[in-house]
Amino acid sequence: MNYDMGFRFALEKQQWIREHITLLEQKHEKKSNINETDEIVTRFHKVKIARHTGHNIMSRKVENNITLFFPEAADLDSIKYQEIIKAFTTEVLRKEAKNYLPGRIQKLAEKNGFCYSKVFVKNLKSRWGSCSAQNNINLNLHLMRLPEHLSDFIILHELCHTLHKNHGSAFHALLEKLCGNEKILNKELKIYRTQL
Ligand SMILES: [Zn+2]
Repeated sequence: MNYDMGFRFALEKQQWIREHITLLEQKHEKKSNINETDEIVTRFHKVKIARHTGHNIMSRKVENNITLFFPEAADLDSIKYQEIIKAFTTEVLRKEAKNYLPGRIQKLAEKNGFCYSKVFVKNLKSRWGSCSAQNNINLNLHLMRLPEHLSDFIILHELCHTLHKNHGSAFHALLEKLCGNEKILNKELKIYRTQL
């Protein structure tokens, strides 16, 4: 639909949209605290939270395990510490993503005969990736928390957009040809969140 129609639709459904934004935010807040019981598994690392007797916050890396240490008394569920944990983990993911994703998309593009302009690695809030009209591709750094076949599925989805800008039947036929069963992969993807 065109922009005006879309705008009118959004205005009409304003109340519904607001209510659901609030619900989604509540859901997000409840689910998303990270503490000592969690282990964040990235493609190349495991990030863990622990306590130590010191008064500072420090991290230690032993092979693939990265541990972020907090003082005994720190209230890890507080906004302040949650922000520190998330910022730290995001930087681990960003570094991995910048090392891995540009090479991976190049490989998948060459193998399947796609051309894209530039690739950007970003902390996208609600999507795994996007492809612009100029065929610049944005990839979410949280792809590093997905198994490789799902990360490849997202990358191929965006590469298919270099040829088909919409999600029409030609788009799905191409993606299906490259990935196998799109429905199953989308279902698998549902258990992962696009942010921490
Ligand atoms: Zn798409």
